[in-house]
Amino acid sequence: MGLLSEGSPLSWAETKKHVEHVKKSGIRQFLSIYRRRKDRKGDCLKWGDEIEYTLVYFDHETKKARVFLDGSKYLKLLQEDEKRYTDSHPSTWKPEYGGYVIESTPGRPWVFVGDFSQFNEIETSMKSRREEVFQLLEGTRISCLTLTIFPRLGCSDFTEPICQPTPHPEENGASRSLFYPDEAIHQDHPRFKTLTRNIRERRGSKIAINLPIFKDVNTPSPFVERFDDSEANAASLDDHVYLDCMGFGMGCNCLQMTFQAYDIDEAKYLYDQLVPVCPILLALSAETPAYRGYLVDTDCRWDVIAGGCDCRTPEERGLKPLRENKFVIPKSRFGSVDSYLASDKYNDIPIQCEPDVLKELLDEGVDMLLAQHIAHLFIRDTVSLFSEKIYQNLENESDHFENIQSTNWQSMRFKPPPPNSDIGWRVEFRVCDVQVTDFENAAYSVFVILLTRAILSLGLTFYVPISKVDENMDKAQRRDAVQAEEFYFRRQPFSDLETNEGEPEYELMSIDAVINGIDGGFPGLVPLIWRYLDLIDLDTDTHSTIRRYLNLMQKRAAGKVLTGAQWMRKFIRSHPKYKKDSVVSDEINYDLLCAMDKITKGEMKCPELLGDDEENEIGDVTSK
Ligand code: GLU
Ligand code: MG
Repeated sequence: MGLLSEGSPLSWAETKKHVEHVKKSGIRQFLSIYRRRKDRKGDCLKWGDEIEYTLVYFDHETKKARVFLDGSKYLKLLQEDEKRYTDSHPSTWKPEYGGYVIESTPGRPWVFVGDFSQFNEIETSMKSRREEVFQLLEGTRISCLTLTIFPRLGCSDFTEPICQPTPHPEENGASRSLFYPDEAIHQDHPRFKTLTRNIRERRGSKIAINLPIFKDVNTPSPFVERFDDSEANAASLDDHVYLDCMGFGMGCNCLQMTFQAYDIDEAKYLYDQLVPVCPILLALSAETPAYRGYLVDTDCRWDVIAGGCDCRTPEERGLKPLRENKFVIPKSRFGSVDSYLASDKYNDIPIQCEPDVLKELLDEGVDMLLAQHIAHLFIRDTVSLFSEKIYQNLENESDHFENIQSTNWQSMRFKPPPPNSDIGWRVEFRVCDVQVTDFENAAYSVFVILLTRAILSLGLTFYVPISKVDENMDKAQRRDAVQAEEFYFRRQPFSDLETNEGEPEYELMSIDAVINGIDGGFPGLVPLIWRYLDLIDLDTDTHSTIRRYLNLMQKRAAGKVLTGAQWMRKFIRSHPKYKKDSVVSDEINYDLLCAMDKITKGEMKCPELLGDDEENEIGDVTSK
């Protein structure tokens, strides 16, 4: 989830006193890195994935599944093992926001030096990481699932051990949620509770998210919830599921990928081309159809995390005239990116920046687009500061920069090299809901990596105006967006070809058209990847591994297999105990998670979700 500095966390009242100091120092730290590393060239593609796992406790007698809160117990064991074999260990383990979540990355980044056979090892790496956890869990009732959302998060008894009393929104609570106890937040590292408290305090009120309920035949209409709490009653909307804390968002899980670029310019170019791909992959990775025990009318986690991290004051949200704050800020600090870095032509939404910060960056020779990007990140205050970290070296440390950078949780992240390291300029792709199986997570990762290679090698460009990317991000989260929605996408992706006179640069396309291509129009991202792969001599094994992965993407896009969200919704709605009232009861939740556990372990086939990876229904995609 970002910077994990150790130390004594400061309250919001204390943190507030240092806000300007952190910003000034953070900019100086960025400039120090920039000066030293801006001309660095020749880094090879290295990349890695981050996968977040939920530990689920199965109570088979009562048919209840709960999130297992003491993830730290297993995290410590995993980390101890990792330390023992630092150089050769196949995995790295980190805490995440939920106490029931652990996160893995490969032990070392994948290094791509033209050897495509490593694509055969990615899924194996994901499987072996999960196997490490399974081994520790042997003999327990706990399993390790890659669930974007635990469907009954925030329902009574949803944690193991059960938190009593639940809820407890007392005065000194971090989130003051009616549903999600502070004990569900990771306890061993202070970052997570501090962020929760400080975001709420900076905002000036509790988090309030309202997700439209999925209206089934017996769902009350209007669907109205009343709580024993006046703030909740005022904040909750009819026909919506009300969520009141950061945990409903940051307690969700994702799949992220980071790539190292050749140099700063390549990093900017890749960043830009992947920005319009984010909503497409968000829709294609949808795994989030239920919250707080109800089916909702959306399929992805994205806006819930945005709402859960929304620390903007009423002035910044435009609800009150600006007096103490400087800007009205349209988005939460978790959200889709606001500007491209390599071309200004499609930057069409206002970017708020502090003029002095922008000037300082420009005076030091940072180009306008990067300066604007960094200055825009720095309109956000630090919301997590440790007393030991207030005063830092501005040349050799980067904690203040990272403090602001890593709490701007955007769809893409542009990552400067850390000081005193041999790591280069990187970009991170952050949108995907995590998939149920290692096969799917490998498929999504390989798709994105190969897309970066195709972009660079074929000179592809996907620019559409940023305002259209924002519209696409909204649509991507709607129920069944993969089939039901159309997205603005560029018609002609070759950067060295002009768009024909009179033809629009972009148009509304189905995800099927974006991924698989359309006759006489956009060639399709998968056929473009194959066009790139045709230039390369792939051995048979690697060819068939890649084909399995790209097939999955193609079939999902074409509606031939379901997204996780579609599959989960279907499972819930066809469960014999489902009353057609949108409620995901304990028993339905238990059966759903047992089925997902079996699918994860390969004990249950699920062609509806995964396709049949042996066959190639799509046919010869290279010729499309
Ligand atoms: N769990 C968060 C998500 O689902 C991401 C946290 C992180 O940045 O690692 O997007
Ligand atoms: Mg994470």
